[in-house]
Amino acid sequence: MRGHAQQEHGQGDGAHGDGHTHDHHGHGASGCGGHAVSVEAMIERAERLCQARALQFTRLRRDVLAAVAAEHKPLGAYDIAERMSAPGRRVAAVSVYRALDFLTEQGFVHRISSRNAFVSCGHEHGAGAGLVFLICRTCGGIDEMTAPAVESALDQTLAGAGFTPTSRILEVEGECGACRGRGDAPEAS
Ligand SMILES: [Zn+2]
Ligand SMILES: [Zn+2]
Repeated sequence: MRGHAQQEHGQGDGAHGDGHTHDHHGHGASGCGGHAVSVEAMIERAERLCQARALQFTRLRRDVLAAVAAEHKPLGAYDIAERMSAPGRRVAAVSVYRALDFLTEQGFVHRISSRNAFVSCGHEHGAGAGLVFLICRTCGGIDEMTAPAVESALDQTLAGAGFTPTSRILEVEGECGACRGRGDAPEAS
């Protein structure tokens, strides 16, 4: 179990009254310990949904999802292929890409464009939900959020421009709260 590092929000208490958006972004996911659902729960859920949607949850798809879900950071297709390969069993990146296409379509993973990499999603947001990814440059961690206010403002702007989006995924780079706390920089807010 890697990647679960110190996700306790142990920086004083209180202090963040205002619009503090972090780990617990009310996606209705239960047992959200820090950033995500366990790998097992993720696989189970994917299996259940595939069954409900009459789709094949092949071993390859399952293994790819497991590899992505086990990692707190976004993984590229080649990294995934490497992780899944064992002596005598090489997994081709092209197969991984195909599985990732499927998993992305089904909403089990998201593609982080700026990294050309993938993260798993244990949330229950709808397919058309506008998402915001907070990408930490220090630890490489990714936090996924929905931001309805941003979304409606963006919708208005797009409508004004006569533009129809096929996706509305925002990626914001910076430093996460945990890293900032570790860097004992004076908290200027
Ligand atoms: Zn998601
Ligand atoms: Zn960080």
